[in-house]
Formats: sequence, structure tokens, C-alpha cells
Amino acid sequence: MKLFFRTAICCIIMTVILCCGCGDAGPGERTDRAGQNTASWQYMDTAMGTVVQQTIYAKDQETAEDFSRQAFDLLSRLESEEISWRLDTSEVYRANASAGSGEGFGLSEDLSGLLEACKELWERSDGAFDATLGAVTRLWNIDSWAVEEDTEEFAPPAEGELERALSTCGSQRMRLVWEESGESGPKLGTDSVTEGDSAAAASASLQEGNGQAGRCRLYLPEGMQLDLGAVGKGFAMERLLGLLEDSSDVTAAVISLGGSILTYGSKPDGGPWRVGIVDPFDTSGSVGTLTLEGQWCVSTSGDYERYVEADGVRYHHILDPKTGMPAVSDVRGVTILMKDGLLSDGLSTACYILGPEKGMDLAGQYGAEALFVMADGRIEMSEGMEAYFMENENRR
Ligand code: AMP
Ligand code: MG
Repeated sequence: MKLFFRTAICCIIMTVILCCGCGDAGPGERTDRAGQNTASWQYMDTAMGTVVQQTIYAKDQETAEDFSRQAFDLLSRLESEEISWRLDTSEVYRANASAGSGEGFGLSEDLSGLLEACKELWERSDGAFDATLGAVTRLWNIDSWAVEEDTEEFAPPAEGELERALSTCGSQRMRLVWEESGESGPKLGTDSVTEGDSAAAASASLQEGNGQAGRCRLYLPEGMQLDLGAVGKGFAMERLLGLLEDSSDVTAAVISLGGSILTYGSKPDGGPWRVGIVDPFDTSGSVGTLTLEGQWCVSTSGDYERYVEADGVRYHHILDPKTGMPAVSDVRGVTILMKDGLLSDGLSTACYILGPEKGMDLAGQYGAEALFVMADGRIEMSEGMEAYFMENENRR
């Protein structure tokens, strides 16, 4: 059996080779003709189970270092306090532990917004994206595919096991119940609602899934487990963007986390950011380059990023919620380009499953551009993507 974990490698490639022009090769200081400081510094570390690389443009090294430390700190807190399903300190862990209790779980504002967005993406993608697949992703043990020493025999889940795990999934059964906004609005007591009567409570005194300001409770049925692996890096990009906006001495940055890249600000020389898109057929190379100005989020999902091979069959990490099996697709990789990090990450996963026709329609609904590398090597992209993407000459 072979185990593969490409995310870390791809991340390094994206920055060092594909993201050529994203910044200087190493720490340094220069001034341009106008006497402006054009220095950038690079930092690499691991966070959220992937390699994170930052290229920071700042007035001096101390500022860049300080920002970089804050960014890594933010990512590790995001994982341990909010989205990890493994760490009992996190909100998602506690939400999962509440499944079937009937009492629901009081969500933070950030996580309620994230789950609302996930539910909407589930609806719009016709169920291709589903954040409630936790029981199935755990059955496949996708996280352990990254651990090299874990080389014992891998066998796909037995049919019965898969059916049982699948029966716990389905975003239609994940209930987000909003307390009405406003001081005089009714309060939801944790002891007053059981799973069975949560719908009645919703219609009587609460509004379900309306996204209004106010506290939100999450009701997961017995056995349901959230898996936010498909949006975690995107959620992190949103947070990093907030940190950049608050850091006035950082003028520009490119941050890559796994399959996601955030660009911010403008290089002092006015040149664009160039972000390469990994070639699924040769992950040390690229299929082409995006030329971008200012703030963008670029997320890529592909069957080459994380997979396992057993008995000559290749199983990858993007699952079809209808079967619980790796999605059968004539796509090898999808890249989404848009301003919003969370959605770019979620959309790349959904579009991989949907394929180019439905995928481009879905991306269009969110104002996003999409590029598909097909199994036969062809590239299909949305019309708007053509303004940013240049295919590598050696492929044409
Ligand atoms: P990404 O690399 O962003 O495409 O996300 C893939 C990860 O999301 C997997 O490792 C799973 O944890 C999770 N996942 C797999 N299939 C789906 C799906 N259909 N919908 C939502 N999350 C998924
Ligand atoms: Mg994703």
C-alpha cells in the first residue's frame, strides 16, 4: 500500500516555484527609485496540519516578524479553539459531542456564520458539498493518510460500515436555530428544548437559519459529526485578512496554506502577484499562472492532494456524499478565484464533485471564477477567469 500526502509539498511548490514574483527569495531590504522600502520577508511553519508560508512586505524586519508570529498564533488558536474535530478544546469538538443530546449547542457568532454558509453551499451544490460528513471521513481515516509511518494494510470501509456512517450525515438534518435579534426577543433556554421539539420551538419563538444577528443554537442528530476540512483553510484566510487589515505597517502579503493562497495589497514596485496552479499530472510543475492585483483568495482542490492506493485502486479525499466513496469525476483539479476565502475553499471542493458544467454555474452564483483541469489534460474555465489565467507555453 502507498500513502500520499501532497498538500505540504504543493504548498512549498506554490510559493517557491509557482508563486514566482510573489516576493523576494529570502529576507532582505531594498529601496526602489523613489526611495520607498521594498523589502519582504518569508516565513514558513506548520499550522492546521499543513505547511504555511508567508511573504510579508513591511517597513522593517521587526514588523514583518511580529506579524508573522501573530499569524501563526492566530492559526493555531483557530484550530485548537474553534475548528478541530480532534481537540476537546475546540468548539467543533464540543458541538459534535452534543449530537443527539436534544439540548443543542450554543454557537459563537463566527461558527454560526460559517455553518450557515456551509448549509447554503450544500443547498446550492445540490448536496455535493456537505459539512456533516464527519462520520464517513473518519471511517476512511483520511487524516491518517498524512502520517508516513502509518503503513499497515489499508482497506476501504466495508459496505455495511459505510452505510451506517452515511446514515448519520446530511446537512438537511443539521438545524441552526436563531434567537430573534433585539433586546426584547425571546431567549432560548437550554433546558426548554429537546431534539424532538426543536422545530416547534423554532416556529414558536425562534427563527431557523435566517442568519439574523442573535445567538444561534446548533442541533445535530444522534451520530452526526461535523467535518470542516473543506472550508478550514478558507476560514483561516478570512481571519488572516482581518489581521492584515489591522496591521497598518504591513503593506502587502502573500500567504499560502495548503491548497489556498491569500494575496493582499500591492507590491511596492507595482507589479502583480503571480500565482501558479499546480499541475495534477506533475505536482512539481504548474499548468499556468494567475496574474492578480490586490486582495484575492485562490483555492484549489484535487484528487492528487491526499490519497491512498491499495490493491491497485486509488482512493482520494474528496467524497461523494451520495455514496460515501471518493467522488468519481472527470476532473483532476479545480481552482476557484474570488475575494472571499471561506467560499473559495468550499467551492473548490464542491466544484470538483460537480464537474465543469454544474461547477461553473455554482461558482457563478457566488461571483467566483473557476478553472478545471480535466482528466484528459484539457483546461476548462469560466469566461471571467480568462482575464487572469495564462496557460504554460509547454502545455499548449
Ligand atoms: P479540500 O481539500 O478543501 O477539497 O477539502 C477536502 C476535505 O474536506 C477532506 O479531507 C474531508 O475532510 C472533507 N470532505 C471530503 N468530501 C467532502 C464533501 N463532499 N463535502 C464537504 N467536505 C468534504
Ligand atoms: Mg475546499
